Parts: sequence; structure tokens; C-alpha cells
Amino acid sequence: MINVVLIKMSLKTKATHTANADGSYTVFINDRLCYFEQKEAYRHEIAHILNNDLYNEDYADAKEWRLKYEKAD
Ligand SMILES: [Zn+2]
Repeated sequence: MINVVLIKMSLKTKATHTANADGSYTVFINDRLCYFEQKEAYRHEIAHILNNDLYNEDYADAKEWRLKYEKAD
């Protein structure tokens, strides 16, 4: 299960996510973004979840690079 929460964040952060103790995830999306940016930020976080990025040891920059340049869609 994936919970989605819109919250006010610094404009430097579009979204983030966390794993919950029950095995679900919560995606936090910056409520200052427009609808389309929120949608893209959600897709970005889902890609991180599908890649198990919370659990691999790559540096954060490597994870961002992979999502940006190795997108299948
Ligand atoms: Zn990311």
C-alpha cells in the first residue's frame, strides 16, 4: 500500500518517501507544486520504490542519475 500526503516543504524538495513498519510506503509531495509537477514527483518516488532505492547502498546521486537517464518511458 502506498499512502500519499501533500505537505508544505522547501521548494528545493519536490517529494520524498519512506517505508513504514507495516510494509507500506508513504510518499510526501510538496503542496507548493502545481498539479502536473506533483504528478511527476509522485511518479519519480514510485520509481524509487520499485527500484528498492531505500534498501540499496548506491549514493543518492547515483539513484537520481539512474532514474533520470535510464527511464524506460
Ligand atoms: Zn529521486
